[in-house]
Amino acid sequence: MPPQKLDSSRGLVDPFGRAIEYLRVSVTDRCDFRCVYCMSEHMTFLPKRDLLSLEELDRVCAAFVRQGVNKLRITGGEPLVRKNIMWLFRALGRHLENDQLKELTLTTNGSQLEKFAGDLKAAGVNRINVSIDTIDPVKFKAITRWGDLATVLRGLDAAEKAGIKIKINTVALKGLNEDEIESLIRFAHERGADMTLIETMPLGDIGEDRTSQYLPLSIVRARLMDRFSLEDNPYRTGGPARYVTVKETGGRLGFITPLTHNFCESCNRVRLTCTGTLFMCLGQEDAADLRAPLRASADDGLLDAAITDAIARKPKGHDFVIDRRTKKPSVARHMSVTGG
Ligand code: SAM
Ligand code: SF4
Repeated sequence: MPPQKLDSSRGLVDPFGRAIEYLRVSVTDRCDFRCVYCMSEHMTFLPKRDLLSLEELDRVCAAFVRQGVNKLRITGGEPLVRKNIMWLFRALGRHLENDQLKELTLTTNGSQLEKFAGDLKAAGVNRINVSIDTIDPVKFKAITRWGDLATVLRGLDAAEKAGIKIKINTVALKGLNEDEIESLIRFAHERGADMTLIETMPLGDIGEDRTSQYLPLSIVRARLMDRFSLEDNPYRTGGPARYVTVKETGGRLGFITPLTHNFCESCNRVRLTCTGTLFMCLGQEDAADLRAPLRASADDGLLDAAITDAIARKPKGHDFVIDRRTKKPSVARHMSVTGG
């Protein structure tokens, strides 16, 4: 589609005619896990003073909601390790009450869910993504380095009990969980949860060779077809996942394949980091600073204008490559900075 002139009467619409209705917000770059595909073991985190305060995050989110964003996902790092994070959920919940927001949701590693599930539900969170790459406790430790599977499973139970719908996200990892994908699907579907498989994306230096972790989902899918009947399912969440129904379990299975399939045409989202930088595309370096206009004035005029200007620069698509020669990531920042 050729670039079009911006039409501000339709909310946030980018130069390619895509309505931007979905904001993902990373509230911290810190995490209580060190997943091998996401972080190196010894990460240097941002100084706390560089982070937007919870009040500032609330103000930026409110500006996006005012301009037409109707879905917010809180992510990180691990969002539930940020101090006083429930304050932000409760504050954002007000946009659900006045129907400006259709959904307030969360991506989490589940480590703190047991503690927070009830509060999340009370704040209006009805659906969450929980990332689980294995249900083998030993492998779980190997993949997350610091995580404990039993704690996460208690978190899942607590979320279900609170009435929150769960989707399990699993990154397909060569040599690590590729033999377990079938059991993970059964595990998710037996609990009534959807499941999405994700290909590793070359984001940030992780202290090892990424090409050794990359497992194309085309291969996973072909293997699954030996075990299951996969029927195309038109279900969409506004995200990049393409779904099938697994006939044997009756559950839904999504595939997110940034490297083997281009999902940019229908991209409706932008991402805010915990320092107030807005990335218009996960796979591109161009970004807009919203912290300066936010802090320059108590009035939201500068912030609103900075958001509109940023959307006018949203690129057509990403260009992920795992460079097999240099082994360098194609995008230098980690997923935990931009928010998954
Ligand atoms: N800590 C939370 C969690 O793990 O769900 C939220 C943040 S995490 C960065 C969000 C999602 O990104 C997780 O599902 C994680 O598996 C995924 N992720 C992290 N690094 C990735 C990478 N390099 N490629 C693909 N997915 C990645
Ligand atoms: Fe933490 Fe999530 Fe990254 Fe794992 S994937 S290290 S849980 S931010």
